[in-house]
Amino acid sequence: MRYLKAFLLAALLLPVAMAAHEVMHAVIWWMLGVRSVVVVRPWTLQFPPVTLPSLHAARPGPGGLGGPDVAVPLAESVANNVLGPLVVAVVLTVLWLSVGRSSRVARAALLANVAALLFFALIEGAYPLLDVWNDDVADVLLVPDLNYGGALLVMLAAIAASLRGGRSPSARSVVSVRDEGAVSPGR
Ligand SMILES: [Zn+2]
Repeated sequence: MRYLKAFLLAALLLPVAMAAHEVMHAVIWWMLGVRSVVVVRPWTLQFPPVTLPSLHAARPGPGGLGGPDVAVPLAESVANNVLGPLVVAVVLTVLWLSVGRSSRVARAALLANVAALLFFALIEGAYPLLDVWNDDVADVLLVPDLNYGGALLVMLAAIAASLRGGRSPSARSVVSVRDEGAVSPGR
């Protein structure tokens, strides 16, 4: 049951984490002196066949929004793609560290989102590099099913790793009461 709870909580938090990650792309573009706009665009999955709203930090070129993005140096593109999700992952990691160990469901949900953000940092950072080499291969990384499917897998793995083993909070409190009983007489 706590696996399901952790997954639902992680799924609830994911749109917030993803929105923060796209806004962070726009903030980094601004710091680099590149104008950008956060837009909502449709992302259509093959399986299940649904269209989800997806945020994107676009860099409008001469053709305006909807046209090709303004070209930027490769290093800036890689840095922005990695740092957008990575900054939010660091923020959620700080939150994860500050949540007490007894809040296992909340900690698992936070860890799942950190894992998803690291996954996006990896594939978004790889995209411009692969694109230089072979744009057909790079375009595979843009397939919505790969993005959401991959994120789902790493989230499930993070939840399993976070909840696996360890004692339940009730078992731990019984032990601590017994421990306190053992040391208290005569002290
Ligand atoms: Zn991104």
